[in-house]
Amino acid sequence: MKVIAKGVPIVSGLAIGVAKVWKEEDVFNNISSNCRSNNNDFEIRKLKNALEVLNNKVNNYLEFIKNERKELKEINDILNAYLLIADSIVEEAIDKIKSDNVCAELAVKVIIEKYIQKLRESGSELISMRVDDLIDIESQLIRIMLGKPLLYDLLINQSRDNIILITNDIMPSTILLLARSGLVGLVTKHGGITSHSAILARTFNIPYILVPSLDIESIGTIINDKAVIVDGYKGYLLLPDINESYTSLMQIANIIKNINDKFFNERAQPAVTEDGHNIKVLANVNNIEDARIVLDYGGEGIGLLRLEFMYMNRKQPPNENELLSTLQKISEFVHKREIIVRALDAGGDKPIPYLNISKENNPFLGLRGIRLLLKEHQDILIDEIRAVLRASSFGEFGFMIPMVSTLSEIIETKKIMNEVKEDLERKGINYGKVSFGIMVEIPSIALIIDKVMNYVDFVSIGTNDLTQYILAADRDNEKVQYLYNEFHPSVLRLLYNVVNTAKRHGVRVDVCGEMASNEIAIPILLSLGVDALSVNITSIPKIKYIVRKLNIGKIRNSIMELINNFSNEGDVRELVMRILMETITELTPLMKIYESYENSQQP
Ligand code: PEP
Ligand code: MG
Repeated sequence: MKVIAKGVPIVSGLAIGVAKVWKEEDVFNNISSNCRSNNNDFEIRKLKNALEVLNNKVNNYLEFIKNERKELKEINDILNAYLLIADSIVEEAIDKIKSDNVCAELAVKVIIEKYIQKLRESGSELISMRVDDLIDIESQLIRIMLGKPLLYDLLINQSRDNIILITNDIMPSTILLLARSGLVGLVTKHGGITSHSAILARTFNIPYILVPSLDIESIGTIINDKAVIVDGYKGYLLLPDINESYTSLMQIANIIKNINDKFFNERAQPAVTEDGHNIKVLANVNNIEDARIVLDYGGEGIGLLRLEFMYMNRKQPPNENELLSTLQKISEFVHKREIIVRALDAGGDKPIPYLNISKENNPFLGLRGIRLLLKEHQDILIDEIRAVLRASSFGEFGFMIPMVSTLSEIIETKKIMNEVKEDLERKGINYGKVSFGIMVEIPSIALIIDKVMNYVDFVSIGTNDLTQYILAADRDNEKVQYLYNEFHPSVLRLLYNVVNTAKRHGVRVDVCGEMASNEIAIPILLSLGVDALSVNITSIPKIKYIVRKLNIGKIRNSIMELINNFSNEGDVRELVMRILMETITELTPLMKIYESYENSQQP
C-alpha cells in the first residue's frame, strides 16, 4: 500500500473503490463581460433549453433513485428547490438578454453574481453558505449551454459502482446526485471553508478528505481507473499494491473501521490518563458548520477558531456586530463551552485580496498574522477584540494572536485590548472576561518564552508553522516533506522548553497544530506536560481514547531521556510507536498498517 496523498480528514470512514480523477474546468472566467448577441431569440431559446435539460436530468435522477433511498424526501425537496431557483434565475436572465442584448451565458452569470453579492452582504455566515448552491446552479446551466459534460453524466456513463472521486472542487448537487449512484469516497483540492459539500458527504456517510496540495493532472496519470482507498479517519489517499487481493484489502478496511468505531462509541468519556491527568480535548474549527458538530464528536470546546472564513469570498472585512453574532452562534453550538478565537491570520498561505497585501518574495516570512494586523489593519484587530469581549458576556472566550515573533507585538496588542475595554466601559457596553494568549509558532518567541509569561494567560503551540520555521522546510512543499518532521529532536526540544517554562509559571499550554491530531505524538505531548490538545474534529474520539489509556508516570522518563540523548533523529518516534503498541494492544494492527503506508515510497 502506498500513500498517494495526505490531507485533512473531513468525513470519517474508509472507502475502497475505483479512482475517477476529474478536473473541473473553470467555465465562469471564460465568459467575457462583452459577450453580446444580435439574436436575442436564439439566446433565450438556448437558455430555456438548458433549463429543460436540467429539469429532465434532475427528474430522471429522482425517478432512478425512487426505490433505493430512504432519504428520498430530503433529496427531493432540495433538488426541487434547486429547480425553482434555476427557474427564476432563467426568467430574470431572459429579461437581461432582452434589455441589454447580452449572450445567455453572461446573462446567467450577471444575475447569479447579483444574488451572490446580496447573500454575502447579508452578514450571516449561514445565509452566505447558500452561495455554493447558486454557483452550483450557474455552473450547471452554463455547462449545458456550452455543451460541456457534467461530471454526473460522465460518471454515470462509465460505471455506477464504488466510485472514488478525485477532483479540484465538488458542487453540493454532484454529491446529492452521486450519493446513491456509486460514489463511495471523495478527495478534493478545494473545499472545507464553505463546507456545504462536506455536510452532504457526512449525511451520506461518504468518507472525504481535503488535499490542498493535490495536483489533479499528475495524480490522474497515476491512479485513474485504479483501485484506491480513501482513509477518512487519517486523511490518506492510498494505492494498494498490485498483489493485494480484494479480500486482504477488506481485512485491512475492517481493522481500521472496527477500532475507529470503538473510538467513536467512547467519545463522550473524558480524557483522563490512567494516572489521573485531565487533558482537555478541544476542536480546531475552520467555519461555522464545523462548530455544529464539535459536541457530536465529543469535543469539549474549541481550542482554535480560525477566523479566516469570516473574511474570505467577500469584498470588505466583517464589522464588529457581524463578528459578534457569529461568535454567539458558535457559542450556542458548543453549549457555551470554551472557545479560543484566533485573530485573523492572513498573509502567507492565506491571502485575502481586499486587504491589499503587497506582493512579497517570501510571504511566509512576510507581513502575515499579527504583523499585518498591527502594521496595516489595526481596525480589524480592534473589531475582533471588541466582538470577543462582548461575546464573552454570553459564553466563555479566549483570544489569541498568531505569528508572534517578538514581545513588543504582545505588548502592543494588549495595549489595544485595554483601550478597547476602556472604550466599552465608557460607552456602557457589556463585556466579559477574556483570557489572552499567543500562538507559539515562530522559534524566536519559543526561545524567549520565559519573558512572555507575565503577559499571557495561556500559550497555544502551532506545530505546523513551528516545524516549518525550525527546519526551514515549507509545510506545503512536497519536495521537502522528507525534512518536515514534527518528531525531529529540534522540534521536541523546543516544545520542551516552552511547556516546561509555562508549567513553572503556572501558565496553561495547548497544542493546536496538526501534531495534536496524530496519535503517535500524544505520549510525547502528555509527557512534556501539555494541558489541552486542540485537534481536527474527526480525530477527537481517537485522541480522547488514547489519552485515557496512557500512564504518563510510566512513560515520561524514557521519552524525555531520548529527547535529551538520542542517537538517531527518528529514535523518539520509534520509542513512542513501541510504547503505544505495548500499552494499547488493540491499536497495534492499526499502527502497523499506518506504519507500512508511511514507510512506502510514493510512486
Ligand atoms: C499552526 O501553525 O500550527 C496552526 C495551528 O496554525 P495554521 O495551521 O492555521 O497556520
Ligand atoms: Mg500557523
